Amino acid sequence: MAKGNGYGFGLPRLAEEAARLGLPSIAVGTAREAAAMRQHFGGDIVILQPWDAGDRVAVELVHDPQIITTVSRIDDLEALASLGGQPPRILVEVLTAMCRHGLAEDELPEVAAWADRFVIEGWTIHLPMRGDSDRHRLAADQLGRAALQVVDAPLWFSHLPTQDYLALAARLGEGRARLRMGTKLWLGDPGALKVTATVLDVHPVRRGQKIGYWQRPAMGEGTLVVVSGGTANGIGLEAPNSAKTWKSRAVALATGALAAAGQALSPYTIRGEKRWFAEPPHMQSSLLFLPAKVDPPEIGDELPVEVRNTIATFDETVFS
Ligand SMILES: *Cc1c(COP(=O)(O)O)cnc(C)c1O
Repeated sequence: MAKGNGYGFGLPRLAEEAARLGLPSIAVGTAREAAAMRQHFGGDIVILQPWDAGDRVAVELVHDPQIITTVSRIDDLEALASLGGQPPRILVEVLTAMCRHGLAEDELPEVAAWADRFVIEGWTIHLPMRGDSDRHRLAADQLGRAALQVVDAPLWFSHLPTQDYLALAARLGEGRARLRMGTKLWLGDPGALKVTATVLDVHPVRRGQKIGYWQRPAMGEGTLVVVSGGTANGIGLEAPNSAKTWKSRAVALATGALAAAGQALSPYTIRGEKRWFAEPPHMQSSLLFLPAKVDPPEIGDELPVEVRNTIATFDETVFS
């Protein structure tokens, strides 16, 4: 799986890695990503966002022999068939508890009527990540069986736990099952990744001294540390997370209240602690406030910075 910002590494780099791993296919999110991916990857490219007649690029790619298009509605099978030309290579998506895209189980038999107009490369089954995993496993099994009765083609799973996938794949036989994997493959070992920012400048400040774009008074006596990384890098952005527990909701509320008071904890660590933003991040740098009792870093120092790889844009990625 390679989509969006390429899990922080960029799509070309993931394409290169996939090729190096000898993988026959790569899945991308959108038709536009697929179009761009063609110059980086020689194998099959699966577009996960289901085909839509209103997406010009998706329509253009349908007959590209390298592309596998996902179809999630019977009407779209009809629309695709009416384009003429070579039979498109497709995956047919089955609706799961995700409730995102796909044919309901009782619609599956209708696919049989279209089977000779397409090269059906498989069925796709995308499961939720949370919830009752036994129920999801049973659903994967049941939907898989229902699909296979209509057209005998490989089953492509998303978010099926690896153990369940391996068990199913063993039962289905060689080449009859696929697992689409992104986060676990590229970001599975947090210890393998280190994100740092560079100290660009350091200035002593007095309490109340007006600083920054917004000329807000400094929080106290201390040091203003100018670091690399800003909104263009995804600093200060947060993916909305699914706060599950009352405790995590309370924490979110508390941080929200601080933010409302004009203070926000930054993702940058100096001398073992996350430090406060002196003002909202700029485009490519941020201002941090460091109290006088803390020894300031030096220009050029590298600081740990916590980012979410799927929403960050890095200035440089170094592989060692
Ligand atoms: C993004 C995506 C995946 C990969 O998800 P990860 O959680 O990153 O492994 C798999 N299937 C579909 C349909 C997706 O959109």
